[in-house]
Amino acid sequence: MPATPAWPPKSLPRLFVRTPLGEGARVELDGGQANYLGNVLRLKTGAELLLFDGQSGEWLARVADAGRKRMTLAVERRTRAPETIPDVWLAFAPIKRAQTDWLVEKATELGAARLLPVMTRRTIAERVRLDRLEAIAIEAAEQCGRTLLPGIAEPVTLDRFLAGRDAERILYFADEGGGEPARVAFKPGPALILIGPEGGFSEEERAAIRAAAKAVPISLGPRILRAETAALAALAAYMAVAGDWGLSADKAE
Ligand code: SAM
Repeated sequence: MPATPAWPPKSLPRLFVRTPLGEGARVELDGGQANYLGNVLRLKTGAELLLFDGQSGEWLARVADAGRKRMTLAVERRTRAPETIPDVWLAFAPIKRAQTDWLVEKATELGAARLLPVMTRRTIAERVRLDRLEAIAIEAAEQCGRTLLPGIAEPVTLDRFLAGRDAERILYFADEGGGEPARVAFKPGPALILIGPEGGFSEEERAAIRAAAKAVPISLGPRILRAETAALAALAAYMAVAGDWGLSADKAE
């Protein structure tokens, strides 16, 4: 269900829609979104809200017609251009469902450009529901003010992940066995952070990752972090050191 943004305070409801947006566009809503705006937020004809379509930035719209099960929105003007986000991808071995959901929500808030589930030898999750992860990412983007959604890739095995990756993108491999401190290792530029499963990578997998082109083993400190903690700690460290944490929320574009 779409979320009402908590930041900035007292902001308008914010909704992702699949209709391409532009000045004068009309957006027809039914199902969950119409119910949420009409029955949960109780928006009436004339009420304002913000929309984004994942491509064209953010737009101010107004409720043109509020029916019982349908709603028509009229798009008025653009309020923000599409933001540029750091080109950092997060690859992770799916864990239990609740923790994976949490990881996807928080990684979206932190600004990951792409999320890549990677199946490793010790991955316990057998199935990844991409539609569920996409819905979680949309809700997080609505809440945190993103205008671009993170791409979510189909799950692949570690072998295929290593064979298919772009060798120009630095592979920051979170290695609990030791590596360069993350704050020293992270550099601006296309980045791919790889986090292992709850049981860690096998020795064979660690060797294969370390041997991959542009692989940089990194340490996230002296404590063994849970997989989801490691993923978000690494992403936060990247954003602070090489990402966009130099910008404040009201300046982000
Ligand atoms: N079972 C492993 C062990 O006891 O050594 C721990 C795996 S840890 C729960 C899951 C993943 O988080 C690891 O594969 C690694 O990618 C990452 N991780 C956790 N703590 C880390 C640290 N201090 N430095 C680097 N990576 C870490």
